[in-house]
Amino acid sequence: AAKEQGRNGFSFFTPAMQQQAHTRLLLANDLRDALAKEQLQVHYQPIVDVAGGAIVKAEALLRWRHPRRGMVPPDQFISIAEENGLIHDIGDWVFRQAVQTAKRWNADGRLARQISVNLSPRQFIKGDFYISWLAYLEHNGVPPEHIVIEITEGLLLDDRPDILQIINRLGDAGIQVSLDDFGTGYSAMAYLKKFPIDYLKIDRSFVRDLESDPNDRAIAEAIVVMAHKLGLKTIAEGVETEGQRDLLAAVGCEFVQGYLYAKPMPEAEFLAFAR
Ligand code: C2E
Ligand code: MG
Ligand code: MG
Ligand code: MG
Repeated sequence: AAKEQGRNGFSFFTPAMQQQAHTRLLLANDLRDALAKEQLQVHYQPIVDVAGGAIVKAEALLRWRHPRRGMVPPDQFISIAEENGLIHDIGDWVFRQAVQTAKRWNADGRLARQISVNLSPRQFIKGDFYISWLAYLEHNGVPPEHIVIEITEGLLLDDRPDILQIINRLGDAGIQVSLDDFGTGYSAMAYLKKFPIDYLKIDRSFVRDLESDPNDRAIAEAIVVMAHKLGLKTIAEGVETEGQRDLLAAVGCEFVQGYLYAKPMPEAEFLAFAR
């Protein structure tokens, strides 16, 4: 019967796929109240300076503590939020959390100087979001230099003048820009000279087999060399072993992030870890 449906132009839905689609619907419904019910939480993962071993930055990573399902990973609900438009409220909320955290950490002085926030391309549809972001920083007395935004290549390939304008405005204000998951997208790379980018994040898929696969080593090294020639710095994600860290250090990668140091954790845990 399924074969017949396929021929008639219907999609081939297995029971597992139906279950998945159903779960997605239920999650979409629950996500509407997640912010108001304070089920969302921001965790922080240290980003370490390879040279000195100090925690110099942290990445803000969103978590959803679902009352019945437990921890729902962002890969399972960000795309839902993008679809139903909740990403704007959620994205603004993550940003404000990160700013408040940066404010506390900078008062301390010994903690990570910069916090990076992930942005969905969808957030750029509301072209004026950055105005309220910059106002929020100013209102809280947090210098924009303490915030980094993480964007992905797909956004820059859009070639929309308003996207360039928004990123330029953020850059002019002092917010730095990281290109996340670098090397996994289209890597058209022409955009690298057009946008004010500060960091390339070497994707975890190139880091994972670094010790056994010479091709991954070549790719990691090529990314670092290109970044340096363009005046950018590199951050490697998903670093789990000292061997990976040492190979990255050897090719000149400046910063590393991964389970070798710590998993993303709530702010209180991060503070205990950092001290
Ligand atoms: P990402 O921005 O590339 O974040 C890095 C992911 O790698 C995180 O997954 C982190 O927990 C994981 N990771 C870090 N070190 C290691 C390691 O050593 N080993 C392994 N196996 N994994 C490691 P997470 O937190 O599940 O986030 C997944 C993705 O969800 C993020 O990928 C990002 O694209 C998205 N995301 C997370 N928070 C936000 C947010 O606030 N807004 C938006 N728009 N997207 C977010
Ligand atoms: Mg990221
Ligand atoms: Mg990444
Ligand atoms: Mg990633």
